[in-house]
Amino acid sequence: MTPRHTSLLYHDVVDGDPSASGFSGAAADRYKLTTSQFARHLDAVSAVAGPAVSVLATPPGDAFHMSFDDGGASSLAIADALEARGWVGHFFIPTAFVGMPGFLDVAGLRELAHRGHVVGSHSHSHPLAMSALDRSAMADEWSRSTVILSDLLGEAVTVGAIPAGSYSRAVAEAASEAGLDRLFTSEPTAKTWRLGTLTLYGRFSVVAATPPDLAVAFARGDARAVALQAASWKTKRAIRSAVGPLWGLTRDLILQRRKAG
Ligand SMILES: [Zn+2]
Repeated sequence: MTPRHTSLLYHDVVDGDPSASGFSGAAADRYKLTTSQFARHLDAVSAVAGPAVSVLATPPGDAFHMSFDDGGASSLAIADALEARGWVGHFFIPTAFVGMPGFLDVAGLRELAHRGHVVGSHSHSHPLAMSALDRSAMADEWSRSTVILSDLLGEAVTVGAIPAGSYSRAVAEAASEAGLDRLFTSEPTAKTWRLGTLTLYGRFSVVAATPPDLAVAFARGDARAVALQAASWKTKRAIRSAVGPLWGLTRDLILQRRKAG
């Protein structure tokens, strides 16, 4: 039987002003946990799952992974909390934002990698509907990001995560062509699947409103929790066009500021 890879997907862990880490705005803020919420999640999840291991060093058999999208400034504090349990995290970086206010800088990225965490691509500019881009734009998002990260880290970056979970076969093929061989999606499943040389992984998304018990249920592969997230993911896909513009606006403002600054 194919091993199961159970992966939880978090974003920022931040106290006080949520814009201190990651993208800002109401749509992004609902993904951010406070330090104490995150500690409760780690306590609860570690009682049933773990250790969280690197997807690059996974022993045969089932594996458990922790992943963090968007490369917010809180990534190093998250790494501290993981390391206190002997856990390894995956941090996915939209490279256009490196060094911007609220995001990790180059030294931070290098430190994460040096400390043994997986630093991967999360596209370059974090498009909200990557699957809607044309093939050359998709290719550009993945290749720019992997080239920048590989240069900064001094080693080939081969792991990525699709921004906003906007999966399509074309998005995955473009990632593979850019040199990635492992791609995390937001499909709520512990099953992996292959596309040529690329291995794809699902993830269970945790937001501020997710109680620790539900994160535990995801980590255990509880069938009801999985079905619940699958149903809400389908709904979310359907309403993304309504929600997307909010997050898109803050992303565009940040990019504009970068160009201006
Ligand atoms: Zn993201």
